[in-house]
Amino acid sequence: MVDFEAIWRDFPQTLAEFEEIFPDEAACRSFLIKLRWGDAPMCLRCDSQSFWELSNGRFECSSCGRQTSVTAGTPLHGTRKPLKMWFRAIWEMTTHKGGISAKDLQRIMGFGSYKTAWSWLHKLRRCAFDSSREPLDGPAQVDDGYIGGRSRQPGRPKDTKALVFVAAEVNGRVRIEHAPSLEIKSVKAFVDRNLKASSEITTDGWVSFSSKSLGERPHCQHFQEKKRHFDVDPIQSAHFALSLFKRCWIGTYHGAISWKHLQLYLDEFEFRFNRRKTKGVGRIAARLFQSLVQNPPITYASIVASSRPCLRFENP
Ligand SMILES: [Zn+2]
Repeated sequence: MVDFEAIWRDFPQTLAEFEEIFPDEAACRSFLIKLRWGDAPMCLRCDSQSFWELSNGRFECSSCGRQTSVTAGTPLHGTRKPLKMWFRAIWEMTTHKGGISAKDLQRIMGFGSYKTAWSWLHKLRRCAFDSSREPLDGPAQVDDGYIGGRSRQPGRPKDTKALVFVAAEVNGRVRIEHAPSLEIKSVKAFVDRNLKASSEITTDGWVSFSSKSLGERPHCQHFQEKKRHFDVDPIQSAHFALSLFKRCWIGTYHGAISWKHLQLYLDEFEFRFNRRKTKGVGRIAARLFQSLVQNPPITYASIVASSRPCLRFENP
């Protein structure tokens, strides 16, 4: 049994500590073994924990003879690069407040190709989403917004921008999803997926935010009219999260995110944002390591082929 909480508590909190604790391949390998299986590797075929260690770094089950490695069956499956490099990439991606671009990762890691850095970040980004997470609760704010280039349409434009829905607990966690439309069925799918039935919701009173989309959740509407000025923005937490993402979109990624991958970038942003109050940035990295060993292999081809816009709305 793996004690994730103990691993999380003891994880290095600064880059200096991180480099001291993971100085070489052996240290990275033992950490992944501990994180994945606890004391010793477990056979993927017969669950035995009795192994021979081979000279090529693989393990051979002493019961059934099956060979495995510490990265087999995870997103690092088949990697030829040292684990130490992956560890450093995870550190860079999770501890920078605004994330890191593939170009910067390529420069830091000394990769020959941009494609390698891009696919590494995408593999890690897939691990930032936790499908078992709890929906938001308590007073929450829901809003829609747009990410993207200039539009000629006033108000709620549809041409060059991507529509997103934001839900935010007051000074708490957020959810942001790339949405297909402002239709009630889209809002309803988003709200039902991300907010508990007991949440009290505040919105700007847009027509799609109604009992048809929000259900029986108590709803407080603050209509935003030009003449009316609020001293305190009633949906400030939602606006704050979205404006921070937009800052990353421009500052880190230079507005170059393809819409078909947008949800993955939003997931990565949420992952960091929802842990912004965690003491010690290293512990944010620890959560990604935990998720890494629990996720299946991901290939470059599958990243390119399977990423589609409005990912969360495919199976509402
Ligand atoms: Zn076995």
